[in-house]
Amino acid sequence: MTTPAQPLDCDVLITRATVLTMDDERRILEDGAVAVHGQRIVAVGPSDELKARFNPVRAIDASGRVVAPGFIDSHIHSSRHVVGGRPYQRAPRAHLLSKGGQVEAFVAELSAMHAVHADSELVHDATMALLISQIRGGTTAFLDAGGWNVDGVGAAVQEIGMRATLSPVACDLTPLPASPDTFPQRIHDADTLLAEMDAQVQRWHGAADGRIQSFASGVWSLNASDELLRGLASIARARGTGMHLHLAGVANEAAVSRRWFGLESIPRLAALDVLGPHFVAMHTYFSSDEDIRLLAESGAAVNQAPIGSALVGRGLGAARSLPRQRAAGIPIGLGSDLGGVAVTMFDVIRSALTVYRDGAQDDLALGVEEALWMATRGSARCLLRGNDLGAIAPGFLADLIILDVSGARYAVQPHPIPALGLLASPGDVETVIVDGQVLLDRGVLTTIDEERAIATARQAVRRFLAT
Ligand SMILES: [Zn+2]
Repeated sequence: MTTPAQPLDCDVLITRATVLTMDDERRILEDGAVAVHGQRIVAVGPSDELKARFNPVRAIDASGRVVAPGFIDSHIHSSRHVVGGRPYQRAPRAHLLSKGGQVEAFVAELSAMHAVHADSELVHDATMALLISQIRGGTTAFLDAGGWNVDGVGAAVQEIGMRATLSPVACDLTPLPASPDTFPQRIHDADTLLAEMDAQVQRWHGAADGRIQSFASGVWSLNASDELLRGLASIARARGTGMHLHLAGVANEAAVSRRWFGLESIPRLAALDVLGPHFVAMHTYFSSDEDIRLLAESGAAVNQAPIGSALVGRGLGAARSLPRQRAAGIPIGLGSDLGGVAVTMFDVIRSALTVYRDGAQDDLALGVEEALWMATRGSARCLLRGNDLGAIAPGFLADLIILDVSGARYAVQPHPIPALGLLASPGDVETVIVDGQVLLDRGVLTTIDEERAIATARQAVRRFLAT
């Protein structure tokens, strides 16, 4: 007769849940359980089996609930939450990015925007409101696609407990206002920018027990010189981290890149040896077959941001890049590309389904399960964590969400894939765990005083607008 094994210690044991794993087999477990110890998931299986195997510090009965990997927004501009908080304008400037885009004007605006000064305290205080809204929306990690004052963003992330990849961004060119057709003028010294970038990456990469990463990134290929682009890729490779750029996001970009640099954006990056598995291409809606071949061969990942891009009329659905990129085997993540407007990944997933299906005039253009995969596994790959983030599987980082699906809207559609992809809203997110730590506990934020943080954020934005 064998004696039963002693139960193993674990920090959190969630039982009686419907577990949407998003693992390699895309398993869904009914009456499932997840055991978490330290930063990682240690076991996934039937409730009765895991209850017998583990002796948890904290047991969570998740009857009537879905447990899923936390969403990952792999294209956010967190500190734009400050400068994006400008007063509502009834008649904003039209057609900057629609109708093919006014590329020269937009490059000039982006280059100028990066000279805006926002101090660490201001960015910390304002970003906190965005992070609260993201956690409440089931987002556990994000890739910052650039903004102001990475130190302020990093401090807010560290305090609230989310996972983030920070990206200070660099640009050294802007078009000549009098003659936008000619090669752009230099506004910064590339070596100085690269030295600052390397220092920032070293300061943040691996911070908070590895919860925070830092990429070496530019803004757009059009406002970066060859030496800046090569230097950023060298830092990413030397420091074992990533790099991203906004690319092929409007139809007119290709012609401007040819005029200024003699090559379209993605072939130019390939010629400069900037592409590789460390590289994340933001947008790429207007990528040619040659672009897609170069991205796929290099092992780069892509982020598509349907809601942020469709709102400004870029035409990404009609460009139909998504099915071609998927067919080429490029890993694709989803993001919001919105900092000032705190949308959640529920909005991003639904906008992906509507934009890509409508643009292709094909309701099979993107499946709900595939959209959820892009918002978890695909985005994890954009954070260079394709092998240990974005799924509920042993050895993966314990970033997960528990949703209450006992309400009326789930009565007719209880399957977890349509429930999460089509029906759920932030109000259903009950508990959020990041890196093994419970950040939202049955609706209450555990790491910060939420009311005070929101009031402080409001004051910070007012202070910035008054300057
Ligand atoms: Zn962006």
